[in-house]
Amino acid sequence: MSILIGSHLSIAGGCHRAAEEAGGLGMKALQIFTKNNNQWAGKPISEADRSSFLAAAVKNELAQPISHASYLINLASPKPELWQKSVDSMVDEIQRASYLNLAGVVMHPGSATDGDRKAGLDRIAKGIDAIFKMVSANEPRSQVKLLLENTAGQGNALGWQIADLTEIFRRSEAFESLGICIDSCHSHAAGYDLTNACGLDRLVDELSVDSLISRVAAIHLNDSKKPAGSRVDRHEHLGLGHLTLDGIARFINHPAFRSLPMILETEKGESDDGISWDVVNMDVAKRLYNS
Ligand SMILES: [Zn+2]
Repeated sequence: MSILIGSHLSIAGGCHRAAEEAGGLGMKALQIFTKNNNQWAGKPISEADRSSFLAAAVKNELAQPISHASYLINLASPKPELWQKSVDSMVDEIQRASYLNLAGVVMHPGSATDGDRKAGLDRIAKGIDAIFKMVSANEPRSQVKLLLENTAGQGNALGWQIADLTEIFRRSEAFESLGICIDSCHSHAAGYDLTNACGLDRLVDELSVDSLISRVAAIHLNDSKKPAGSRVDRHEHLGLGHLTLDGIARFINHPAFRSLPMILETEKGESDDGISWDVVNMDVAKRLYNS
């Protein structure tokens, strides 16, 4: 089997441009923002853009393309107004994803800015329930999953401990509509030291509680500029950071992860050799993958 590697690509010029670019680069997976990620509202996706996107995704055999939600969304917010805005915005994100036939929308669980973890997790679960109540009222057949991403644990960010994700699943009534996205950089920075087998085993063991591991639907494949346990979220090109090539190889070949779409979220631009970083990183991942 071959690695389902892809990247987060730009939708400048339309969502279809990202799917076409992924195909052109020889990728088999894709993540996009379906609108400007720093704004609450986005203009509707046109029908022409939608059909070009769907055609390009099929033609290039992209495995379960996904989107990433806006960075403004914070379901853990103690401020009712921001919480409600986050719920409404997430409904829009899921409906956009549904329109493009995406498999899921990745969302950071949220930041409990009042420092109260338990209350924050509760607000996230309540938010998820409110979101799916609205989604199913508008679109009863929507299959799009909300993928909770594990975080590096900067500041008051929740979801850096897998136990946070377990809690959210337990507290939410809409848990059937939830999935998980595991980010290798975030895992390492959160203290699951991926440079050794023990760190990876602990990550997988914690994901095995309540069989959460079966809900992992996507991987964010990034190296980390910061060491294990730093709780600082800085992505690095594969093999140039603290994960080491050994650590990355162990991670991408783990039976729990190896068949999932893997998305690069590393810096764009070109290496010193004038090669697109996406291609450089994709080649590293392909080389490390035991086919
Ligand atoms: Zn990520």
